Amino acid sequence: MLKKLYKKFSNDIGIDLGTANTLVYVKGRGIVINEPSVVAVNTKTDRIVAVGNEAKSMMGRTPPHIKIIRPIVDGVISDYEVTEEFLSYLIQRANNFTKNFFRPRVVVGIPVGITNVEIRAVHDAAMAAGAREVYIVEEPMAAAIGIGLPVHEPMGSMVVDIGGGTTDIAIISLSGIVRSKSLKIAGDKMNKDILTYMRSEFKILIGEKTAEEIKMTIGSAMPGKEGEKEMHIKGRNLVTGLPHEVVITDADIREAMYSSISQIIEATREVLEITPPEVIADIMKNGIIITGGGALIQNIEKLFEFQLKVNTIISNESLTDVVIGTSHILEDINKYQDSLVKDTECIKIV
Ligand code: ADP
Ligand code: MG
Repeated sequence: MLKKLYKKFSNDIGIDLGTANTLVYVKGRGIVINEPSVVAVNTKTDRIVAVGNEAKSMMGRTPPHIKIIRPIVDGVISDYEVTEEFLSYLIQRANNFTKNFFRPRVVVGIPVGITNVEIRAVHDAAMAAGAREVYIVEEPMAAAIGIGLPVHEPMGSMVVDIGGGTTDIAIISLSGIVRSKSLKIAGDKMNKDILTYMRSEFKILIGEKTAEEIKMTIGSAMPGKEGEKEMHIKGRNLVTGLPHEVVITDADIREAMYSSISQIIEATREVLEITPPEVIADIMKNGIIITGGGALIQNIEKLFEFQLKVNTIISNESLTDVVIGTSHILEDINKYQDSLVKDTECIKIV
């Protein structure tokens, strides 16, 4: 009886705790938060003063007592207390949207490389923030569910999630992750590649934000049909120290990012090499699916196909697949029970 009431009235929450972006889904409302995973903390009081876009806009402009922190760096929790506060903030804000009196059930997507201690920390933080029940799912699994891949079937699917801090590669079959690999080469590294390239090839100093804009505007993995693309970039000339403008093309940026993208493809090859033959046959048939923000790099699937000789598909909703996956899990927790991270209750903290 009580369960039924809860089911009717509680507004369950799904969270994608990404290295670059955090998304929150509230049942019945859709995605209510979609902001950078950035927190500004006042080191004098240890309180969070801003999160998301507001905190990101403070970057590089803060007084000494304000510290800008990314709670998840390289796929691991960088600061437990901040992560706890961040989660608590997200859950409270999502709850405010619903003005709900019942405590919500919460599904949190976490990176694949995370340790048991970190899983426990996420679990406890969500409970402390007012969750009634907490379920943890690994992000590539959530993405596969969000995309609508046949995760429960004896049929292998391969997901390559190129995020900000990490790329998570996973092979899924029969509700579980059969093989996986997480590497610290993803969107942030590509921004750094562009920055370094601009410095060495054009003798110009640009900020990380500009590097990201370049990647999003003309970044590609292989030449496209659209022809050459150009961009005018302003920065500081490293020789004269004065402001300076240069014109760059998509070919320059391809060269800058090539090594990182190739390493992601090589890691994908390594995962394929340790995958059972039957599952390989499924993947040859169904293709590799690319998701995460990195899937938006033009023609990235073409480079995968060229180097691996396996059909590769870009997810249509690459930035929201994980959080949509958590929303499907909320709809029917029992159905996804085997795909969740188990036994957070009995994990020993060493
Ligand atoms: P995470 O799950 O780690 O939070 P996301 O999946 O949200 O990461 O992806 C963030 C990354 O995707 C960032 O590095 C961002 O620069 C990159 N990204 C977002 N949009 C684009 C785009 N249009 N082209 C290339 N990269 C993009
Ligand atoms: Mg992600």
